[in-house]
Amino acid sequence: SRRWAKAMAIVKEVEEKCETPIGKLRQVADAMAIDMHAGLASEGGSELKMIISYVDNLPSGNEEGLFYALDLGGTNFRVLRVHLGGREKGVISQEFEEVSIPPHLMTGSSHELFDYIAQALAKFVATESEDSHPLPSRKREIGFTFSFPVRQLSIASGTLIKWTKGFSIEDAVILPNFFCETNLCSNCSFQLIMTLRVYGLAVCFLMARVGQDVVGELTKALDRVGLDMHVAALVNDTIGTLARGRFYDPDVVAAVILGTGTNAAYVERTQAIPKWHSPVPKSGEMVINTEWGNFRSSHIPLTEYDHALDVESLNPGEQIFEKTISGMYLGEIVRRVLLRMAEEASFFGDNVPEKLRLPFILRTPVMSSMHHDTSPDLKIVDGKLKDVLEITHTSLKMRKVVVSLCEIVATRGARLSAGGIYSILKKIGRDTLKGDGEPRKAVIALDGGLFEHYTKFRTCMESTLQELVGEKVGKDIVIEHSNDGSGIGAALLAASHSKYL
Ligand code: ADP
Ligand code: MG
Repeated sequence: SRRWAKAMAIVKEVEEKCETPIGKLRQVADAMAIDMHAGLASEGGSELKMIISYVDNLPSGNEEGLFYALDLGGTNFRVLRVHLGGREKGVISQEFEEVSIPPHLMTGSSHELFDYIAQALAKFVATESEDSHPLPSRKREIGFTFSFPVRQLSIASGTLIKWTKGFSIEDAVILPNFFCETNLCSNCSFQLIMTLRVYGLAVCFLMARVGQDVVGELTKALDRVGLDMHVAALVNDTIGTLARGRFYDPDVVAAVILGTGTNAAYVERTQAIPKWHSPVPKSGEMVINTEWGNFRSSHIPLTEYDHALDVESLNPGEQIFEKTISGMYLGEIVRRVLLRMAEEASFFGDNVPEKLRLPFILRTPVMSSMHHDTSPDLKIVDGKLKDVLEITHTSLKMRKVVVSLCEIVATRGARLSAGGIYSILKKIGRDTLKGDGEPRKAVIALDGGLFEHYTKFRTCMESTLQELVGEKVGKDIVIEHSNDGSGIGAALLAASHSKYL
C-alpha cells in the first residue's frame, strides 16, 4: 500500500544517512586525531578538551597496602576498600558498599552533600578488620572518582568546569547528570540535590559552584567528621578504568567508557603535549582524558532526527559524538524515527500512539532487547511495543522493520565508537606495524553498561575496529572488559600515587 511504501521510504532514508562506510570512518578518525593534536597544543585549542589528568604513574601491579575509593557521578555512589598484596598476591580482597543519598538533602548546598559522603565513608572505615589498620604514622589514603567535568590542578585537586550555559542559577551551575533508569528519583541512589521534570522524566542534577575545588570540599568534610584520610587522587571514570586495566595488564594503552555517556582516556608521551609546561615526569608519560563525547565533525553522519534531538537537548550543540553513540540517546533516536513513521505514514494505524510522543520513553536497554529478539514471531518486540509504547496489534512484518531500525542506529553508534578508538591508536602510532614489524600488543580497556549488555553493539564495534586496523595489526589489538574500573581504579591510583612511596 501507499502507507507502507511511505514508511519504508523513511526507513531507507535513515539507513542511507546513517551509513558509515570504512572510508567515512577513516575521515572521522583523521578529523578526531587532528582535534586531539589541537587540544594538546593549547588550552581551549579544540572542542576536544584533552584534559591533563596529572596521572603520570599508572598502577604496575606491585602496589601493596589498604586503599579506599569513593565513586561519585556514575549511576551509583559507592565507597570501596581494596587490600593489595604486591606482585605475588595481587588483590587480596575488595569490598564495597553502595550508598543512597536521601531526598531531604535537596537543599542545594554542596556542604551538606560532602558531609553526608564523609559520614558514609567514616561508617565504612569503621568496618575495617583489626589486622588491616594502617601503621600509626600513616594516614589512610583514598582515590576519588568524580565523573563530572573537572579542570585538574594536580593529581589530587581540581575545580568544577561549567558545563551547560543557560543552566546557571546565581553563582551555581547545574550539571545534568543522567536520566534515572527508574523514572523515580526517590529511588535513585544519587545525590538528590535537585531534580527537575524534563519531558515527564525525572532528571537528577548535581549542584556545585563553578570553580569549587572538589577535593578541598571533601577533605574539609572528612575533617568535620574526624576522619583523618589523605585524598591521594582525583580522577574520572575513564582514568579509573585505564588504571584498573593497567594494574592487570601492562599492555593497556587506552580506556573507553560506553555507558549512559561516552568518553576515552589514553597514555600520551609528555613530549607530545605542547601545553604541558611543568617538569617532565619520571615516566615521561601522562594520561589524557580526551572528553571525546564533545567531538564534532562534518564527517559524522547525522540525520534530521539527530539534529532535532540535539536542539531539544539540555546541551544543544554540545556532545555531538556522544549523542550518536551512547546509551542515553540510542533508544531516543529510534523513537524519533518511529514517531515520524506513525505521523506521516500511519505506520501503527490511523492514530499516532500517544506514548510514542514522549521523549526518552524508549530506552536503550529496551531497544537492545528488541534488537536481540531471536524468536521466529518476534515475541519480545511485540511485548516491548505493548508494554512501553502501548502499541498493540503489530504484524510480524512491522516488527521486523522496528528491529531493522534498531540495527541501523546501533550499527552507526558502534562503528563510530570503533572510529574513535582507531583515532587514538593512530594518535599513539599503534595503528600500523612499526619498523621491524615486530608485533606489539595494544589493549583497550572498556567499561560501561552499553558495552557490557548490548551484545550486538559490542560485537559490531569490535569487528569494525578489526576492519579499520586490518588483519595484520588486528591480531595485536585487544578489547578487554575492565569491570568496575571507575571504583577500583581510583583505589589503585591512590596506591600508585601514595605519598608514602
Ligand atoms: P553510567 O554510565 O551511568 O556510569 P553504566 O556504565 O552502568 O552507568 O551504564 C548505564 C547505561 O548503559 C544505561 O544508561 C543504558 O543506556 C546502558 N545499558 C544498560 N543496560 C543495557 C542493556 N541491557 N542494553 C543496552 N544498553 C544498556
Ligand atoms: Mg559509570
